[in-house]
Amino acid sequence: CSSNSLSVFENLESNVRSYSRSFPVVFRKSAGAILEDEDGCEFIDFLAGAGVLNYGHNDPCLLNNAVQYLKANGIIQGLDMATTAKREFIESFEETILCPRGLTYKFQFTGPTGANAVEAALKLARKVTGRHSIISFTNGYHGVSLGALAVTGNRYFRDAAGLPSGGAVFMPYDGYWGADKDTSEYLEKVLADASSGVDLPAAIILETVQADGGINPASKGWLQSVERLCRNNGILLIVDDIQAGCGRTGNFFSFEFADLSPDIILLSKSLSGSGLPLSLLLLKPELDVWRPGEHSATFRGNNLAFVTATAALRKYWTNEELSGRVTETGRVMSERLRQIAQKNQDHCFSVRGRGMMLGLDCGKGDLAHKIVHKAFEDGLVVERCGAEDQVVKLLPPLTIDWETLQRGLDIFETSVHASA
Ligand code: PMP
Repeated sequence: CSSNSLSVFENLESNVRSYSRSFPVVFRKSAGAILEDEDGCEFIDFLAGAGVLNYGHNDPCLLNNAVQYLKANGIIQGLDMATTAKREFIESFEETILCPRGLTYKFQFTGPTGANAVEAALKLARKVTGRHSIISFTNGYHGVSLGALAVTGNRYFRDAAGLPSGGAVFMPYDGYWGADKDTSEYLEKVLADASSGVDLPAAIILETVQADGGINPASKGWLQSVERLCRNNGILLIVDDIQAGCGRTGNFFSFEFADLSPDIILLSKSLSGSGLPLSLLLLKPELDVWRPGEHSATFRGNNLAFVTATAALRKYWTNEELSGRVTETGRVMSERLRQIAQKNQDHCFSVRGRGMMLGLDCGKGDLAHKIVHKAFEDGLVVERCGAEDQVVKLLPPLTIDWETLQRGLDIFETSVHASA
């Protein structure tokens, strides 16, 4: 398909700083795993709004619920007031996610974006513990507002703030020194050593699979050691499940495989299921120390997002096979990626990930960029991540049909062969 929208794109690019540079067409509509541009060209979407669209674009069930709600004059902006949409979301979350897992958390809606949830978590952890510093990890990504940026393990992003972002201590993430060295032992030693200069922090914030940092999965053992360290030192454990949560790695919460019990859990991206912005902080009840009004924001909990989120939760709940399907599809995808890596042994490709959150590390240089570019020419949307943008990440909708998945992987393979 050849697109005529390039000239329009050039205007867009000069005026708007955006993804249009990576995907130089003007998109018009979408369904499932397919994006269509204004010339009718179709693209398979393995980016899914950067992990936002676990159920694909315009899922009919979610869409239908939203339309019905709008037609019934449902409230859209209710500040933080009680509404039926909010109540149904909370009840559904308790019924479908918390109760079956024996979990008890309180809900704090934090504003539209993931970074809002991160900010709230950092504030809360400091308020609860009376400590200041936060430990985060190399290559972690938590957002671009000042607090979230301060715990983001990427100097490139932090430099964008134009001033040093304080309050965070970066420790080596799992695998930093290779698979055979356990970095949690280093962390333990540094915290116990009065000469290290690292004060006991309020919290440790981590992703169980670092997403924008390069698709780096932490092992069960490492995660458990970090949790143990938290328990032994009165440190709160914050799991940022904004990208890896909501079923992306198989289980609803990405940390379930490691049996963690975080003090604070952050969700956003795929929580609404529809692409409508919603972010949520789940806190253990004993951490509920904020007085009324101490943490607020105008757009805390968009009611239309609650409506689609409730439908998404019901979908996840009623579709018992979904979690197993994610694991199986992820296995098929990573097997295919390994084959692609094997066929191109001149390059040091490596495959990483968990569930349907996968990455092909292309090593130094501009190979990842070439692959993404070629894939897009051939009708596949993929994006790069990692400290040097060296990893191509693959995040198709969890509900992608088999045929579209295979077509996408075929295009990906051709792009790697053509670029390597
Ligand atoms: N945490 C993680 C793990 C993320 O992947 C992101 C976004 N990529 C954020 C936080 C920030 O979310 P947002 O861009 O919605 O502010």
